[in-house]
Amino acid sequence: GTGLMKGKRGLIIGLANNKSIAWGIAKSCADQGAELAFTYQGDALKKRVEPLAAELNAIVCGHCDVTEPETIEEVFRHLEKTWGRLDFVVHAVAFSDKDELTGRYIDTTRDNFGRTMDISVYSLTSIAKRAEPLMSSGGSILTLTYYGAEKVMPHYNVMGVAKAALEASVRYLAADLGPNRIRVNALSAGPIKTLAASGIGDFRYILRWNEYNSPMRKTVTIEEVGDAALYLLSDLSRSVTGEVHHVDAGYHVVGMKAVDAPDM
Ligand code: NAD
Repeated sequence: GTGLMKGKRGLIIGLANNKSIAWGIAKSCADQGAELAFTYQGDALKKRVEPLAAELNAIVCGHCDVTEPETIEEVFRHLEKTWGRLDFVVHAVAFSDKDELTGRYIDTTRDNFGRTMDISVYSLTSIAKRAEPLMSSGGSILTLTYYGAEKVMPHYNVMGVAKAALEASVRYLAADLGPNRIRVNALSAGPIKTLAASGIGDFRYILRWNEYNSPMRKTVTIEEVGDAALYLLSDLSRSVTGEVHHVDAGYHVVGMKAVDAPDM
């Protein structure tokens, strides 16, 4: 790397395994000289996250489940002690009941609606609130979203509604934190086969559809999302905030099936 992120310290929440978008972002940041801290959700993922952290010389802050506010508190106390400040945060967290990521949106239950919004939307706000005091010389906060926030996608359902709220949160947080030179942005990634994505109905069909119909006739990789994240996390984007930046091989500009797309 060229040292774009040299001297920067960042927390990455949402690393599950080496297929995670968070891992693509972590690799790009580390390659450019960033110092990283990870969390994991529960003991099952601890075993996956620890070796990945070792690979990038990252700190492991411990268990963090955004539905347990004391675990968020614990992570930031740990960072306060070990680093004393923070330059960036990556929020790559989302959850919804798999049974409701298929079929009709109208069948969403109140219970899963609330849980989906709590984990996938409110968590960004609670993490930003806790990060603010550690970013006394400015900072960059980045979250992950999807085109299902803007347009109806089959099976995305309540997660699309949550991503719309997440994108609105990015704008409100950008306004709140802008005076302190803390920027808040989102990357809207094209579909990638990860643990979370495997919960979405007909995901392979969605991947193929994007490959055939995006302007670049491809899907995207976690490494490509990672490199785009570098722009939003580094000083290259120092006057960019409240933005939703698409990394989707151009899919979001297309209004119709491509004429050369095979039948599927
Ligand atoms: P992933 O399964 O690798 O990551 C999801 C992460 O969310 C996991 O690390 C999991 O531990 C964490 N998480 C879920 N519930 C949590 C909770 N209660 N507390 C703390 N952490 C919790 O999958 P991914 O696809 O890399 O997802 C990362 C982000 O990217 C998500 O916001 C997702 O919606 C978004 N995204 C994914 C795609 C895609 O196609 N994979 C496309 C656009 C956006």
